Amino acid sequence: MPLAQFRIFSPDEFDVYLNSSVFSRTVKIIQNHHTWRPGYSHLSSQRGEMYWLESMRSVHINDRKWSDIGQHITTFPSGNIALCRPIDLVPAGIRGANTGGICIEHFGNFDLGADQMTDAHRNCIIRLNALLCKKFKLQPNASTIVYHHWYDQRGQRFSEEKINSGLVGNEQKSCPGTGFFGGNTITAAQNNFFPLITEAMKDQATTPVVQPKMKKVKASALNVRSGPDKNSPVLRVVPKETELAVYQERDGWSKISNTANEWVFSNLLI
Ligand SMILES: [Zn+2]
Repeated sequence: MPLAQFRIFSPDEFDVYLNSSVFSRTVKIIQNHHTWRPGYSHLSSQRGEMYWLESMRSVHINDRKWSDIGQHITTFPSGNIALCRPIDLVPAGIRGANTGGICIEHFGNFDLGADQMTDAHRNCIIRLNALLCKKFKLQPNASTIVYHHWYDQRGQRFSEEKINSGLVGNEQKSCPGTGFFGGNTITAAQNNFFPLITEAMKDQATTPVVQPKMKKVKASALNVRSGPDKNSPVLRVVPKETELAVYQERDGWSKISNTANEWVFSNLLI
């Protein structure tokens, strides 16, 4: 069979691609991995995204003896999403979770103290998981969205207690990283990752076609966050008097973009 043709999309383009595609395989599990190496520092103008896709494929074919690149999708610090192995083929991702699985590799090393995930990458990872959940009618939880770290080399999943206690550490790789959305345990995923995906699924379901309300920043500086709560990361800070378009309001928070997840505290607007 000919090798897969790599295609690189923006998240919006990937959304269109996914919605217009029909797949014959039933997908029940979304695997999240990090590449670990190569990581952020390996990307350069000479060695860009396409270079590293080919490089990963070459390692998978020559060293691991697989028929093609192992993962279906690779995400990049730029926020780009690369389609790799055809989605209708079973991936080579996690033994024990490949049947019915989609394998995503996030380009970078997300162990604590290693690569600092860019905002574009973070938003792309959340959105991609949300798009796949919607496409394959999955609710984000620890059975549908899984980490490599939760499985042993033979394809057995560790017990939830063992994963959450951190005792898996010495037996299995840390993938997708000890710093991936607050950690690689099930508890960390439930607290920090799944809620963002659930939120992103809602936003896409109700993409508003409304006229935004124009408001002004009354605080001296206002944090723009990736979700409607004070624990969501700050994407940027806008100064007093800035005019913002509010597209949606929820629980005292205002959404200031109709495409991206950008929220500000409503009390600081007039
Ligand atoms: Zn992995």
